[in-house]
Amino acid sequence: MDRLLRLWTPVLLYHGSYPEVPPELGGELHNVTPEQLIQHTRYLRKYVRFVPVDELVTAEKHHGLAALTFDDAYRSVHEHVAGPLIEEGVPFTIFVNGSSLEGEVLWRDKVRIVISNDWVEECEAGLPPGMKIPGLSFYKYTKDPRNDSAVVDAALTRFLDSKGALATRRPPTVDRPEAFIDSPLVTYGNHSHRHYVLSSLTKEQQREEILRTEEVLDRIPNIRRSRVFSIPFGERKHFNEETIEVLREYGFEAAVLSRQRLNLRRRRMDGFPLLERFMPNDDRLGPQLIQFRRLASA
Ligand SMILES: [Zn+2]
Repeated sequence: MDRLLRLWTPVLLYHGSYPEVPPELGGELHNVTPEQLIQHTRYLRKYVRFVPVDELVTAEKHHGLAALTFDDAYRSVHEHVAGPLIEEGVPFTIFVNGSSLEGEVLWRDKVRIVISNDWVEECEAGLPPGMKIPGLSFYKYTKDPRNDSAVVDAALTRFLDSKGALATRRPPTVDRPEAFIDSPLVTYGNHSHRHYVLSSLTKEQQREEILRTEEVLDRIPNIRRSRVFSIPFGERKHFNEETIEVLREYGFEAAVLSRQRLNLRRRRMDGFPLLERFMPNDDRLGPQLIQFRRLASA
């Protein structure tokens, strides 16, 4: 493990950290219990030093380092793991979708609501023609870059409103500025406003998605900001050259992906730094690292 981590730099990506996942978030949510997550960081700290993800971008050598990130800002992160991580001196970055501070339920959580209520067929019946992609599940085709995310979101909202399912729902993601943590160990970054597939949008729409969350974060007092952008969904097909152009325009220094990989060399697109991340599952970390390294070299 020592040798592996001297060559490969892990950037961990988590989403929910509930001791038990609330039923309405059901099946598809990536969740690692607080206890297991803390164990993961303790295990890694035997071999590497955790630094904020921004420091990883600028570090001369990233070997021997690691970074910890959370996407979507589920409240469970603030409620269950932020405290213990700070106590143990582990820096971390939370990537926020600004729309949840405006009380909006993220569209991927709307997808989860439809699935967990067994409404998929009923919802599909009202979708615009051509949206359903043969061979892909409802969960998958709704986030396929061929479908404009804004159009999918509007259809989901229409359906769930007709069920009265959104009116009283508080988003499971951080929705109040007071919840943000003022600590030198905690930084907040931009994960776009509504978590749309950026490559499904025009450049102007992408600009708006990124700018609106910048503005939301600008209004929150006493937080430390990351200059790294987290690409929603995080695979190559989910962003394009225009995304990189917009990120440059707004002064971002790097973007983080999510492709179940560790970092060997520095990766760039048109000269813009990209970092790989991987999502550990709710199990021991050691065997997972070995598996991710295999994937990376395959
Ligand atoms: Zn996300």
